[in-house]
Amino acid sequence: MSKHYAVFGHPVAHSLSPRIHAAFGRQTGIAVDYRAVDVEPGHFAQALADFAAHGGAGANVTLPLKLIAFELCDDVTERARRAGAVNTLIRNGDAWHGDNTDGVGLVRDLTARHGLDLRARRTLLLGAGGAARGVAPALLDAGISELYVVNRTAARADALADALGEPGRVHPRYLDDLRALGEFDLIVNATSAGREGGLAAALPHSLVGRRTAAVDLNYGEAAIPFLAWARAAGCHDVVDGLGMLVEQAAESFARWHGVRPDTDAVYAELRERDAVLVTAD
Ligand code: NAP
Repeated sequence: MSKHYAVFGHPVAHSLSPRIHAAFGRQTGIAVDYRAVDVEPGHFAQALADFAAHGGAGANVTLPLKLIAFELCDDVTERARRAGAVNTLIRNGDAWHGDNTDGVGLVRDLTARHGLDLRARRTLLLGAGGAARGVAPALLDAGISELYVVNRTAARADALADALGEPGRVHPRYLDDLRALGEFDLIVNATSAGREGGLAAALPHSLVGRRTAAVDLNYGEAAIPFLAWARAAGCHDVVDGLGMLVEQAAESFARWHGVRPDTDAVYAELRERDAVLVTAD
């Protein structure tokens, strides 16, 4: 049976992952059969079982399924365990092995592509969903000083802070507290609010200092409100999530195929496409 790969999400029709993995396949000479599968959370377990039965060898998982994917795995990597969320599934015999490549993807994009030194940065993480869980441990490992976690649903920020297990360094706070938190050197938007709007209006400019880098895990139109806020507030660096998307995909590709593709050409091609998308109409 030939091997299949997929990204599961809801919604997922606009995912760039099939295009990225096809480009990696052309570059490395590996035939890649990778498609997008839209599945609601309640049907994900069955869809994944069907996928495995029909030759599914690996999958990416995107919103809102990363926490469920973690529960469906038979074993997980250390970085997925710390995240409590899985974005990469690897079929191992009759079992699913889970990994999380979001954190390493973000850190590689910020440090290697954008030249940012993350060490000692006082950091604000907006959001506590699957993506926030993936990137938080990697940011701590990259040497940020303190991590403040703020989420619309406060209980999820508390749960993420608890799971990270570093009470001296990680502090959950309420959205209403933002004005009292002072300046940050790094602000990471890991919410999906861009799709609905409203988050940027709740962010005071007092969060921004002389060398603040603002990073949105979103890209394209979904990143416009937060990135516009960051520029208006005077952030020193403003980065969207396109580079992270390519880096986390390369890490997944390496897990499945044993080869790490070169990401620069694929990133450049998508950036060109994204510029068209952002400036359209
Ligand atoms: P998720 O698990 O569904 O979590 C969504 C998060 O956004 C939650 O913290 C949620 O808060 C918050 N949120 C949603 N609407 C909001 C609003 N109107 N105002 C304030 N907060 C709001 O999704 P996810 O997997 O974490 O993904 C989050 C975003 O990151 C997505 O847009 C995704 O596309 C992007 N992402 C990008 C990459 C990349 O490679 N560039 C990788 C992963 C994710 P509540 O807890 O209160 O609901």
